[in-house]
Formats: sequence, structure tokens, C-alpha cells
Amino acid sequence: MDTPKTASVVIIGGGVVGCSVAYHLARRGLRDVVVVERETVGSGTTSKAAGGIRVQFPIEAEIRFSLESIKVFERFSDEFGVDPGYKKIGYLFLISEPKHLPGFEERIALQRRLGADVRVITPDDARTLVPALRVNDLIAAVWGPGDGLAGPAEVTAGFARRARELGAKIVEGVRVTSIERAGGRVTGVTTSDGAIAAPRVVNAAGPSAARIARLAGVELPVHPRRRHIFFTEPFPAIPGPVPLTTDVSSGFYFRKELEQVLLSPGDVEDIGEDFDVSMDPGKVEDAVQKAVHRLPMIADARIAGGWAGLRPLTPDDHAIIGWSGVEGFFLAVGFGGHGFQHSPATGRYVSEWMLDGKPSMDLSPFDPRRFAK
Ligand SMILES: Cc1cc2nc3c(=O)[nH]c(=O)nc-3n(C[C@H](O)[C@H](O)[C@H](O)COP(=O)(O)OP(=O)(O)OC[C@H]3O[C@@H](n4cnc5c(N)ncnc54)[C@H](O)[C@@H]3O)c2cc1C
Repeated sequence: MDTPKTASVVIIGGGVVGCSVAYHLARRGLRDVVVVERETVGSGTTSKAAGGIRVQFPIEAEIRFSLESIKVFERFSDEFGVDPGYKKIGYLFLISEPKHLPGFEERIALQRRLGADVRVITPDDARTLVPALRVNDLIAAVWGPGDGLAGPAEVTAGFARRARELGAKIVEGVRVTSIERAGGRVTGVTTSDGAIAAPRVVNAAGPSAARIARLAGVELPVHPRRRHIFFTEPFPAIPGPVPLTTDVSSGFYFRKELEQVLLSPGDVEDIGEDFDVSMDPGKVEDAVQKAVHRLPMIADARIAGGWAGLRPLTPDDHAIIGWSGVEGFFLAVGFGGHGFQHSPATGRYVSEWMLDGKPSMDLSPFDPRRFAK
């Protein structure tokens, strides 16, 4: 597709966030929405996500984002014509240190008040859910049966498909190289395929968000941090489905993917501004060690492969959503390890904010100015 010369809104980044924003803007009737993606739709960090969807978040706004997004995943096939592979496998958090329990209890009270089904269970109950677990060092577990997973590629494709049908243009293989301003406001972008004049520009560039913000003179604390996921050869000794199970102390998590076991060491690694996210084979040992501690029988499994991706983290682990301070330049960034699951709600509230002047939900926890304060 030729790159348009004008747009009502340019969205930088065709990941799950940018495509959801494009869909919601187009659904509200906005014409000439253009998404500029330097590679292909969904090829950024969205392609590295584990697909997890949970209501177990610490603040009200995020819990509400989850509850709303889960409703969208439940009806996704009907609304988008794409099966997202949504399954309620549940999320299980394993707690071995007493210091971690009070925080969970506080959050569970909030989650339950907002309508989520989350409870503290005993280590033996946890072993009933996942018989392969070693539980003798656990003091409790937290179980969210309504949590689950879906396919990030399918969901992104669904948003992109409907956005296009509603008139949005998504150009691939085109890079934004600068953001143009005049009189303190955005006037468009320059790309590797020419200029696009536009009164509004959305930064949805995932791990590249800080770089993109700098093009408009905005400093953003969005830090790309590398995380690995490995997978075993088929391992029927742990039959699926298995809840997405996280060892709170080590950060290690696992779940079944068809016959294979997916496992992550839960690493948070600063690789600087290096956006090469090749896998570090040295991380396998870390993952296996943590896995064998929690799932002794996995010592018999063979690691078949793995990948690494960048999670765009902020200092407080909450996303940054709102106007940037430069007129016309909007931010939908810093989604860390939950940008995929919150993408349906993100798209809706960003579209409300841009079209109605304010969102219908209090998004102040995501205020871009909170770090300066
Ligand atoms: C290992 C791992 C596991 C994860 N697991 C989960 C999970 O279980 N659940 C969950 O919800 N989230 C998970 N995440 C987080 C999730 O992947 C991200 O939060 C989400 O994908 C962010 O989406 P995005 O659209 O903001 O970013 P991206 O998908 O990275 O999209 C941004 C796009 O911007 C494009 N871009 C950048 N610069 C330019 C430019 N100059 N011009 C044009 N285009 C540009 C990029 O090519 C990219 O496609 C995980 C992440 C990792 C790394």
C-alpha cells in the first residue's frame, strides 16, 4: 500500500496496542486513521508474548482493564472473525515467603470487590490443581480460575483486519524517522516513504516508545527489559491444561502449550538501548534450575528451544496513557508484561480520550506526568 500523505491520526507502531487503537478510532467513525509499522503487523514485542490474561493486578484501573478485556476475548471470534484461542486455564501464584502474603491478601480484597474470582488456597489445593508441583516449601497459593490465555498474533490480526475494513490504513515496512512540530504542536510525521501531515500522532511503539518520544522532544521512562521463554519437547508426564503457574519468590513461571511445557526464568534484564533480542542460551540453565526446584519431574524433559523479547517497563510497572505535553502527541506505551491482555480496553479508552476529550474511566494512574511529580 502507498503511504498516505495526510491522516486524521497517525499511529506509530502496528503491535497489538496500535492496532487496537486504530480499530477503536475507526469504529467510532474517524476517517483517515493511518498506522505506520516499520516491519509487519504484530512482529514487535507482541510476537514474543506468552498470551497470559489475568485479573490479578494491584490497582483498580488495571483490574477494570482486565475485566473489560476478558469480556472482549470471550466474544472475540464473533466481533473480529478471528478465533483468538481464548482459554480459561487459570493463574496460580505460589507463595513460599511470609512477606509476600499480605500484599496478595490486600490485592485479592480489591479484586474480589470489583467482581473477580480470586482466592487464597493451601499448598495441597495447589497440588490438586497441578499434581507435578513440589509444595513442601510453600505457605499458600493464590488461585484465579477466571484467568487464562489467548494468541497475541490472532488478536492483533483481528484488530488489524477490522480496522482496515472500517477504513483505517496500515502501512508496513515503513519507518517513522521524525515527528514534525510547528508552534508547539504536532503537524505530522516523516517516514522512510515520505511525509504524512496529521494533527494528531499516537506513540504506540512498544519497547521503542522512548526513542519515538524523543523525536517530539519528550522524555519517557519506558525501559525495554529482556525476558526469555523456553519450551520443552513434548512432555506428556505433565498433562495439560495446566494453570499459568508462577513461583512468586523466583519469578519462574510455566504452563502447557499443547504437549510442550513453556517455562520462563522470569528474568528482567537491562540490555540498554540494544534492540537485538536474540536468545541467550546461557539463560537455559537458570530456567531449568528454577523449574526443577518447583517441578522435580521436569528434570526428565528436554529443552527444544526458546526465544527472548523486550518488555517495555516503567518505574512503577504501570502503563503510560495520555497526552504527552506536546499538543497533538498522545502516548499509549509502557505496558510491560501486560500490554497484550489490556489491549482491548486500552484501544477503547484511548479512542474515547481522543474523540470525546476525556475517557469514561479514571485513567489517572497512567498519567504521563506522574513521574515528574
Ligand atoms: C517474553 C515476554 C512475555 C510476555 N508475556 C505476556 C503475557 O503473557 N501477557 C501480556 O499481556 N503481555 C505479555 N508480554 C508483554 C507484551 O508483549 C507487550 O506489553 C505488548 O506486546 C506491547 O504491545 P505494543 O503494541 O505496545 O508493542 P509492539 O508489539 O512492540 O509494537 C510496537 C511496534 O512499533 C513498531 N515501531 C517501532 N519503532 C517504529 C518506527 N520508528 N516506525 C514505525 N514503527 C515502529 C515496532 O516494529 C513494533 O511492531 C510479554 C512480553 C515478553 C517480552
